[in-house]
Amino acid sequence: MITLRSFVAGTPVSGSGTLDVVHPYDGARVGTVALASRADTDAAVAAALAFRDTPSRFQRSEILDRTRAALEARREEFARTIALEAGLALREGRYEVGRTIDVLRFASIETLRDDGQIFSCDISAQGKSRKIFTTREPLRCAVAITPFNHPLNQVAHKVGPAIAAGTPIILKPSEKTPLVALMLAELLYAAGLPGPMLSVLLGPTAEVAEPLVRHPEVELVAFTGSVAVGKRIAATAGYKKLVLELGGNDPLIVLDDADLDLAVTLAAEGSYRNSGQRCTAVKRILVQEGIAPEFTRRLVERTREYVCGNPLDEATRVGTVIDEPSAVYLETVVREAVAAGARVLTGGERRGALLAPTVIADVPRDCRMVVCESFGPLAPILRVKDLDDALSLANGTAYGLSSGVVTTHLPSALKAIRTLRCGTVNINEVPGFRVENSPFGGIKDSGLGIKEGVIEAMKAYSYVKTFSMPW
Ligand code: NAP
Repeated sequence: MITLRSFVAGTPVSGSGTLDVVHPYDGARVGTVALASRADTDAAVAAALAFRDTPSRFQRSEILDRTRAALEARREEFARTIALEAGLALREGRYEVGRTIDVLRFASIETLRDDGQIFSCDISAQGKSRKIFTTREPLRCAVAITPFNHPLNQVAHKVGPAIAAGTPIILKPSEKTPLVALMLAELLYAAGLPGPMLSVLLGPTAEVAEPLVRHPEVELVAFTGSVAVGKRIAATAGYKKLVLELGGNDPLIVLDDADLDLAVTLAAEGSYRNSGQRCTAVKRILVQEGIAPEFTRRLVERTREYVCGNPLDEATRVGTVIDEPSAVYLETVVREAVAAGARVLTGGERRGALLAPTVIADVPRDCRMVVCESFGPLAPILRVKDLDDALSLANGTAYGLSSGVVTTHLPSALKAIRTLRCGTVNINEVPGFRVENSPFGGIKDSGLGIKEGVIEAMKAYSYVKTFSMPW
């Protein structure tokens, strides 16, 4: 049993109630968290606004690097805690810890990089003998709200760049997965992070998240989560910067000329990793007619290798989804698709929050399963006539996060890159492929086009000050 407390400016709250954290696999209580109150929320904002003693770049870089080293030393404990609170397979927890280590490493490196530019002003008929310089200044107070599906890495992607930029941040993690977020905060404080630079608050939405979003002196809200909550935040936040990283409905397009082995691997990995709960999971497989029968046969075979079960067993590749209602929802959209003519070729069995990886063929284009985001280990196959058909189907949803295209034909790859209306196009890779400092984020309902990734996020967590001097 893990017992933790919310933190206001580095100090554990005395607690106005507790939150129980349960293991999605068997419902066992695995942790409790002392909750913050409305007064704690106000105190966290006040502490961030009052903070003046920003550590130097060197000190911030050292704090991030010491945190990275501490996380490496406790890798297995963090991975296990992810498995316990999120129900993800232990191997997914380990992968996520590895990604978080990368985020901290890159943030530590980027902290040291100079971010200024210089403009000579004698370059036009209107010019003068001066120079303009830019420098990046921290914000006074940022707020980050994170989802359950990558409980550690999503947090690191907010907190790491904020610290790198010198901006105090208040984090509101998902109440379904608060444990590793609080454990990471403990590592950061132990590594020397001044308390006022980070508060971590769990508590009722009306006492924590909503007042933070509305607070007139909070300068940025960075939110990762569902479209519905993201749009609600956009409607209520008022005059402040917003970074919204929302849901996705990413296609994997498989053309007739694809390397079939690669296509099957990418479809399975993209659909089932992290129990299919990645914003960039493969949520629709658009397969050209010529290759569809053989692709489908091999994907069914491959899917049977994805052992689904107890997240803590080493053999398990697919753990639970986040809770039973989410698994029931997935079961429902599969049934709807079947009623409309689709066929379940393997999987589909549900036990509590556990849903076996499921291949569904002949999925009609207007099924809820593929029109909306299905956040779980489903692999819906839709046949397409040719590349143009695939591109128009891919673009025909409200989402625009990422995409993958499997082809050996360069002109097809180039056309897909030019035509797909989304934040990322990965050729011969899953939509979710990225490195932790590359720009990442979606358009349309998936986001406002403001990217995350360590380098872009540092820009969001700061503003550019311009100054000029005679030269
Ligand atoms: P969610 O239900 O939107 O919750 C996300 C966060 O918002 C949680 O911390 C939640 O707190 C909080 N929240 C709920 N209501 C709020 C309100 N009225 N005001 C402010 N905050 C509020 O999302 P989720 O189910 O945790 O995560 C899954 C979704 O995230 C999927 O749609 C997935 O695609 C998306 N996602 C997107 C990206 C990306 O980069 N584009 C990455 C990962 C996930 P409580 O936990 O207390 O309810």
